[in-house]
Amino acid sequence: MKRYVVECKQDELSESIKDKLKKAFDGFMIYDSEYPELVISVGGDGTMLYCIHKYKNMLDQVAFIGVHTGTLGFLTDYQKEEIDFFIEDVKNGDFRFYNRYLLEVKTNKDSYLALNELRIENNMRSQVLDVSINGEFLETFRGNGLCVCTASGSTAYNKSLGGSIVCSGKGIMQLSEIAGIHHNAYRSLGSSLILDQSHTIHFESLDFRNAVLGIDQHVYDLQDVQYIDVKLSNKYACFAQLKKVSLIERLKRAYL
Ligand code: NAD
Repeated sequence: MKRYVVECKQDELSESIKDKLKKAFDGFMIYDSEYPELVISVGGDGTMLYCIHKYKNMLDQVAFIGVHTGTLGFLTDYQKEEIDFFIEDVKNGDFRFYNRYLLEVKTNKDSYLALNELRIENNMRSQVLDVSINGEFLETFRGNGLCVCTASGSTAYNKSLGGSIVCSGKGIMQLSEIAGIHHNAYRSLGSSLILDQSHTIHFESLDFRNAVLGIDQHVYDLQDVQYIDVKLSNKYACFAQLKKVSLIERLKRAYL
């Protein structure tokens, strides 16, 4: 018998779906919020991000699956109208699993894991950032900031920046600019740059005043930070899949 937990968005619909799931799985699985093997997210993409971060210390023991009650569902497979199919599918237990790669972010002060992206952002003044890849200097960026996303995060903030949508299970990360300044005096790449597991991106600045570090839904200040390193982590979030929803279908549902 599996141990499971339901993490839900704080709204009436999501709470009522949580109650329904707990009743349906009573006697079939054990409800265990401390050591679950299956984490069921009920809400939107933000709820799934919350789940990944909540259980980030036991990623090798947990699988995630989502029921969608919010506005957009890129990280969730089931719609709220499909809740009875979801219950039936879980009980039939025909799980397949796939992994979503994470980013490992290290500063001179701390370390983080990100499912979608990291953002170095400064809305108060131009942020100057020296960017090196595998120890080789690439550019000095000036502008609002830079974003590095995973394949999973390519449809999130990265898409709003004009970055590419990545349709691949392979571990890649994508570096995109946030309002870069480009003229005769200041120049940076401008295009998004796609890198793989062999790359580490190193960001350095003499002045991170007013800048913040965004890691998925979390934001941290960059006081006393001198550098930020990012690479693909060897940790990943394992997603359980009961029904196949193609990326193309998700793209059509969300954007077309
Ligand atoms: P939130 O839950 O309000 O999310 C903001 C929007 O991003 C929602 O519509 C959500 O469905 C969508 N989203 C999140 N992950 C996604 C993914 N992997 N693919 C497609 N869409 C996705 O805000 P939050 O809880 O703070 O969530 C944080 C995430 O929201 C961040 O990781 C960031 O990528 C995203 N975000 C995007 C923008 C933007 O596109 N301009 C702005 C803010 C936050």
